[in-house]
Amino acid sequence: MDSEQAEVGRYAPSPTGDLHLGNLRTAVIAWLHTRLQNGTFLLRIEDLDTPRCVPGSAEQILRDLEWLGLDWDGEVVYQSKRQSLYQVAMAELQDQQLLYPCFCSRKDIREASSAPHSAPGVYPGTCTSLTPREIDEKSALKPAATRIRVADEVVQFDDGCLGAQYQSLASEVGDFVIKRADGLFAYQLAVVVDDLEQGISSVVRGADLIDSAARQIYLFEKLGADAPHYWHVPLMLDEEGNRMAKRDGSESARAWRAAGKNGEQLVGKMAFDLTLVDREEAMSMSELLSLLDFESMTKCLRRMSKADQSRAGV
Ligand code: GLU
Repeated sequence: MDSEQAEVGRYAPSPTGDLHLGNLRTAVIAWLHTRLQNGTFLLRIEDLDTPRCVPGSAEQILRDLEWLGLDWDGEVVYQSKRQSLYQVAMAELQDQQLLYPCFCSRKDIREASSAPHSAPGVYPGTCTSLTPREIDEKSALKPAATRIRVADEVVQFDDGCLGAQYQSLASEVGDFVIKRADGLFAYQLAVVVDDLEQGISSVVRGADLIDSAARQIYLFEKLGADAPHYWHVPLMLDEEGNRMAKRDGSESARAWRAAGKNGEQLVGKMAFDLTLVDREEAMSMSELLSLLDFESMTKCLRRMSKADQSRAGV
């Protein structure tokens, strides 16, 4: 990354339920990562997938972050209000003839991709070369999704936490959806357009999204921009060692608050659990910030990632 470029980070939750402690921990890490570099920290609510959004959840997320003492710069951005930006990016990709309509249902894809000689879960390319006439006929029967053609090359990047990463989009993912058949722009497109438009230089997010990074880097390239630096941080596990889910209310930020605890207690606990401090004591986010430096923060993230990978047997 250009050393002259100002650091811009972000947290981009989907309002699909209460944040759990793992979501909050990722937000804290992203915030520290930016603030330790004197960067700008943005908050974006990813409310594009309207059928999955829970009413009131976005407001609750903002309240939970404020309660924790996590601040952000500028106005909160809502993806639902940015359709025109996604449309422009889609037109840019269309001009490069990278897009095509796809009429496959999930079942069609499952069946085709389980055939011999095809990789499971990879889009089998059923609709890649439909004639204009076939497209017209199929369009009369059902709405199409829009897919982008991927290149037959390996996407490589250096993840801040996980090190060198490689993914062949052609053999591991296939052409992917950028606009769904129900008319909603897909996460992959929206997140790239927003990260690009907001000038994000580092994306710090949960390790569950590592598989999306190569697709996003590919889209950045096609939109003529450099991708941000990615940091996929280990996910927090619950007491039984399972990944936390938003539906699991007991570990929600709201439950922690309802138990009468304050944000500073949670910040202190997280900092201790992350081994950023050696004693568990309540502290504000700015107190925690003043105790750390970027170097030791990133060392800690890499150490956690290593431990996570060896636990998972990687
Ligand atoms: N909105 C996504 C989520 O809540 C995160 C997307 C991202 O950070 O790229 O899982």
